[in-house]
Amino acid sequence: MKKIAVRNLRLCTKDCLCLYVCPSGATDTEDSVIDVTKCIGCGACSDACPSGAISLVPVEYPPQQEKGDAVMSAMTHAAEGKAREERAALDAASAAGKPGLSRLLRAIARSSRLSAEDIMREAGYMLPQSGRALSLVQELLDSPPGEGFPSDAASYIIHAIDCNDGGYARRESGSRRYRCSRCLTEFEASHGEDPACPMCGAKGTDLELI
Ligand code: SF4
Ligand code: SF4
Repeated sequence: MKKIAVRNLRLCTKDCLCLYVCPSGATDTEDSVIDVTKCIGCGACSDACPSGAISLVPVEYPPQQEKGDAVMSAMTHAAEGKAREERAALDAASAAGKPGLSRLLRAIARSSRLSAEDIMREAGYMLPQSGRALSLVQELLDSPPGEGFPSDAASYIIHAIDCNDGGYARRESGSRRYRCSRCLTEFEASHGEDPACPMCGAKGTDLELI
């Protein structure tokens, strides 16, 4: 299987050992991106890199294998089990009474949700769930791009997105959760209130509904 080198710029410390060992000059680029048209996949750069910043990846990946009915059924069953665990943990958190215990139960609920999401992604489903996805689908629903736009499916997705992430908490408390793109602070604001980041004061498009 033919491979090429790719560099993770976050790990690269720019000591340039890869430049010295590369026989084709593929690493000697102005923009730090390995030139895939020159790379012969010898792996010398990857072996020399002290930071583990270079990996060899296949030029072409094999086609995705279809999952059989038995596997899909088992995955759906597992995801449903995780969803039940999440619901039970959230119910217990609401009734817990003690803040510490409530936080622990919400963490367990979150863990169950992440497991269920992983299983569903592995099963081939896309899970739109951020505030931005919600806005996009709502815009498409308000102004359909053409005849045949699946409005029923869009309405369902909007409902499903609201059930994701902070959806339970939002419905319970009437609040919404935001992430500030400037300082990455996450915070809650009441529904209908003009939200502002409590750390840096950012507003509007600097805030993402999560
Ligand atoms: S050898 Fe590794 S750390 Fe050094 S410049 Fe090349 S990729 Fe970056
Ligand atoms: S795999 Fe070989 S040819 Fe490709 S960038 Fe690394 S050293 Fe150069």
